[in-house]
Amino acid sequence: MPGYELIGKEELKEVSQLFKKSKTLSRMGFEKKRKNIYKVEEFEKKFSKFIKSKYTLAVTSGTAALRIALATLNLKKNDEVIAPAFTFVATVEAIIESGAQPIIAEIDKTLNISYEEFKSKITKKTKALIVVHMLGVPTDLYKIRNLCKKRNIKLIEDTAWGCGATYRKKKLGTHGDIGAFSFDFAKTITTGEGGMLCFKSKKLYHKAAAWHDHGHENNPKVPRWEDTRSSSGFNFRMNEMQGAVGIAQLKKINFILKKQRKNYFLIKNQIKNIEGVEIRHCPNNSHISADSLIFFMPNKMQAIKCRKELLKFGISTKILPEATTWHFAKDWSHIYKLKKKYPNLKKHFKKSKQIIEKSVSIPIFLYMSKSFPQYVKKSILNTIQK
Ligand SMILES: *Cc1c(COP(=O)(O)O)cnc(C)c1O
Repeated sequence: MPGYELIGKEELKEVSQLFKKSKTLSRMGFEKKRKNIYKVEEFEKKFSKFIKSKYTLAVTSGTAALRIALATLNLKKNDEVIAPAFTFVATVEAIIESGAQPIIAEIDKTLNISYEEFKSKITKKTKALIVVHMLGVPTDLYKIRNLCKKRNIKLIEDTAWGCGATYRKKKLGTHGDIGAFSFDFAKTITTGEGGMLCFKSKKLYHKAAAWHDHGHENNPKVPRWEDTRSSSGFNFRMNEMQGAVGIAQLKKINFILKKQRKNYFLIKNQIKNIEGVEIRHCPNNSHISADSLIFFMPNKMQAIKCRKELLKFGISTKILPEATTWHFAKDWSHIYKLKKKYPNLKKHFKKSKQIIEKSVSIPIFLYMSKSFPQYVKKSILNTIQK
């Protein structure tokens, strides 16, 4: 959750330096005026160092990051891109905007895409898979990645909730071909709106950098208005104010992750032994970002009851069990192109539905009151005993 809990003087200092010294708000141009201050570029470099990926590109949002990632793959009209049934709608919006067909696969008890389901959805037209490390728990990538390699499917990681989390000691976003991050107001670190991409391949990075800037190749030999280009594009450039805030937020990320994980385990320890309650599964050898803690109640009714009990203590349950409108494919009948592919959208995704409707999510805050974990426990016990 909590980048926004820590907006303070560090961010203000970065932004004021920008206004006092460079007075340039765009990442490009004004070389003489800006006194060598390049906030977006600096943010990219520092982010590169943090996630250990050589090629990073800052953009306007996480949704834009996904759209740009797909733009680098030269997708054609009937090409297919697989994504999980449980994700923020943005993942699927990006696929539709790219012109490809979204293919939805069921999730398992990690609440991320199931390997078997992914495998069963592969066809000759499958060009890419977007895994989503939903709410900060890594997707179990090992078999998925191997299968992608074998079948020549590009692997994109929607790391919107997983910034700083690791799988087999490596940061999320850097396992596949492309990682996409979000810095919107609800994510681990925030620039208000914003996103980042990281790439394994230099070639894809250059393609993305050009596409996010109308095709500009930033050829140093010519002025910008005479720039060379070899593709079309769009405008998804991050601005210097966002870059400045990002630099300050990134300095806080290790603190945020440490504190989130600590609070997560404080809650988990209170509830892990309650009979009938099962904590969301995490793959071995992984380190969550601890954005939220999700547990399964015995059934749907109990989950709804538990939510009511939690509300009595003023504890919200984020998107689960009930508020899945933006996060579960079953509720996306408003997307015409998806509806065409899945005419019975409401009835589909049975496996995912069974898991999602008995899940309860607890948002993790940095500044959590001491009694919070006990209130969560009490709410569950009140539910079960009633
Ligand atoms: C937040 C989010 C996005 C989109 O990020 P924005 O920066 O809000 O555009 C994409 N995918 C997932 C899973 C998200 O949670």
